[in-house]
Amino acid sequence: MESGRIVIVGAGQGGFQAAASLRQEGFRGEIVLIGDETGLPYQRPPLSKAYLKTGVADELELRPAAFFEAHDITLVNATRVEAIDREGKAVVAGDRRFPYDHLIIATGTRNLRPPIPGLERTVDLRTLADAARLRDHLAGPRRIAVIGGGFIGLEFAAVARALGHTVTVAEAATRLMARVVSPEVSARFLDMHRGMGTEVLLGQPVAEVTETGIALADGTVIAADMVLLAAGVRPNAELAAAAGLTVANGVVVDTQLATADPDISALGDCAVFPDPRTGRPVRLESVQAAVDHARTIAKRLVKGSTDAYAAVPWFWSDQADWKLQIAGLSSPEDDSVLRGDGAVLRFDGDVLTAVETINDGRTHMQARRLMAGDAPLTRDALAPLDYDLGPLMKASRGR
Ligand SMILES: Cc1cc2nc3c(=O)[nH]c(=O)nc-3n(C[C@H](O)[C@H](O)[C@H](O)COP(=O)(O)OP(=O)(O)OC[C@H]3O[C@@H](n4cnc5c(N)ncnc54)[C@H](O)[C@@H]3O)c2cc1C
Repeated sequence: MESGRIVIVGAGQGGFQAAASLRQEGFRGEIVLIGDETGLPYQRPPLSKAYLKTGVADELELRPAAFFEAHDITLVNATRVEAIDREGKAVVAGDRRFPYDHLIIATGTRNLRPPIPGLERTVDLRTLADAARLRDHLAGPRRIAVIGGGFIGLEFAAVARALGHTVTVAEAATRLMARVVSPEVSARFLDMHRGMGTEVLLGQPVAEVTETGIALADGTVIAADMVLLAAGVRPNAELAAAAGLTVANGVVVDTQLATADPDISALGDCAVFPDPRTGRPVRLESVQAAVDHARTIAKRLVKGSTDAYAAVPWFWSDQADWKLQIAGLSSPEDDSVLRGDGAVLRFDGDVLTAVETINDGRTHMQARRLMAGDAPLTRDALAPLDYDLGPLMKASRGR
């Protein structure tokens, strides 16, 4: 389609990118980008990193207001879409209706709220408004407890500790970032955080948040005057479910990010799609996935492209002066091979699933390039090279 009206619900990373990519691909119709936050669309990664230190919000904006005017993108902010009327082909927000020819659901995620008594005493780190509140909290000396030893909890812990606050991280699993990295990388980050003076408690779910701190399942009490909840997220998929679309840990889409309704697509953190390599349903929480999904949808809608979304996933996390980068997607039970230089290669059987590096952008880029090739990389091919990706890079350039 080159004309008509495309409505995008959710004005975050992926929703914004969909609007921009539609114009880039030559879409001449109307684009309406509806989001429930105030202000211009912004990037979230700095919220748990640089922004906590600098407090400069302008730098987070994905584009200035002039961009939306110049590209004729109607941004409707501070507006929460409450329903999708599929028969009438419109979305509903209060007494307003926004008709669409095509709808893109880009509603992202929200903080997971485990059933812990006292959870209302915790603070979140999801939005710019949350981060601004947190910055205010950090203005004076604090005893901080963080519930969750994943990317966001640990990034925040590293910043708070560097600012001189007392920090305890409580993680229910027996290792840090267990869902996304190898035991070897978990262990290195554990040492690093403990070395900074952060108390890290593993294998203990938080049982209660009290007025004076948190209590763990074994009765340990940690005094805290601020508790950050960073125990994972849930996809915002209720809109889609209520409209009769298939939802299973997110809005279910095919390899081209299309739902079963030909007039509705979904992308980013809220979308579940078949992993191009394994066919397994996956939902990624990363900027790169949201951006690439948006581009795939724009090409399909405007140019009729039948290309599947097949990008190699990659992730990063900045904790203190360590940049963790992950190319590919592993399962917690995948094997690990630890290279002499600290890089970790993960394998599902014989097949390379991910490469984890710390402050090693070169290996990360090599892994991304090689994993994008047609044939999977195997242990048989890598072992004789001592798992060095360099020779394979040279060989691939020579082809
Ligand atoms: C603190 C933090 C740090 C992060 N760091 C990294 C990082 O280092 N690297 C990385 O790759 N990723 C990082 N991420 C994740 C990354 O920000 C997300 O993967 C990315 O923003 C996903 O884009 P999205 O468009 O799917 O969702 P979002 O960017 O979350 O946008 C969804 C938008 O939809 C809105 N919305 C939801 N429901 C409705 C509704 N009914 N009506 C209207 N609007 C609605 C939401 O309020 C939100 O504004 C981080 C996230 C956070 C919170």
